[in-house]
Amino acid sequence: MREKIIVPKDYDYVGVYLTDRCHLDCPYCITTHHNSPFGKKDVPELRPEEWVIGLNRLELPKDVPITLQGGEPFLYKGIWKILEDVRHKIDILTALPPFVKKSHFLNLKTLEWNNRRAPYPTIRVSFHRGENDYKELVERIAELQEILNIGLYYLEYPSHSDEELAALGDYAKKFNVELRSKEFLGESNGRVYGTFLYPDAALGRPTGVKVLCRNTVVPIGQDGNIYRCHSDLYFSRPEGVLGNLLGEVFEFPDSHLYCDNYGLCSVCDVKIKTNHEQIYGYTSVDIKFINETRSCRIDYGAKKV
Ligand code: SF4
Ligand code: SF4
Repeated sequence: MREKIIVPKDYDYVGVYLTDRCHLDCPYCITTHHNSPFGKKDVPELRPEEWVIGLNRLELPKDVPITLQGGEPFLYKGIWKILEDVRHKIDILTALPPFVKKSHFLNLKTLEWNNRRAPYPTIRVSFHRGENDYKELVERIAELQEILNIGLYYLEYPSHSDEELAALGDYAKKFNVELRSKEFLGESNGRVYGTFLYPDAALGRPTGVKVLCRNTVVPIGQDGNIYRCHSDLYFSRPEGVLGNLLGEVFEFPDSHLYCDNYGLCSVCDVKIKTNHEQIYGYTSVDIKFINETRSCRIDYGAKKV
């Protein structure tokens, strides 16, 4: 008999990577930052019934859903069983592949998983310029929002022109689709975008700096492995595996863990962002520097956005 898995109260996010496959090939994809092999390794995927057993073991903090993501989560065929049989509220990060239809959702025995009070759309569809078509996405979202909490996000990609964004905004407005932006993170034309609590953590190369790190985000890989952080997941680091969703017993560490991959951190883990309540000033990881007097922590305060 597998025991419950208690997610600590101060944890903010549970990201479930159903698959590392994606139908798009965005050049700036965060999963492959720092030349990680994510999506190129033959990592086995859990079966849908295994996901249901594993995810239903989780005891989540108040108002924290699980978030299905990837890769493209709808490429995982068992997603429909997960949406029906997992007992939690579920958010989805997707680029909404063309084969996903309203009828798929209507065929589910419940949409309760999508019935969550949140200050943002809980199915977040991404528009990636050059990879998918915003008009098609807006029209499909307009149809889906009759039954779902869903909205469109565009990446604040540096080369988006004002005209392009105005056209996107007008089109979303015409169909009454909620449109939001997502901060672009990473490098473009020699400039690094994003606001980072630890500025040298995501340089893209090992720095030799040894740290103790505690994360309040849970990344779960497609094989059910629960990782210490996104960088460990994207690089499939064995030492970053805390356990498996299907292991008999699993407990989250209650202290900081040793890491010598500082410099290869994922931008998601070290950036300053909003938490699940939309309060700005949150960063997923807390890092302590061993043998160094410096602390990179900057107190940005907290404000509701
Ligand atoms: S849609 Fe998302 S997961 Fe797929 S390649 Fe683009 S950024 Fe990466
Ligand atoms: S220091 Fe960076 S790579 Fe190491 S565990 Fe923390 S977030 Fe992950």
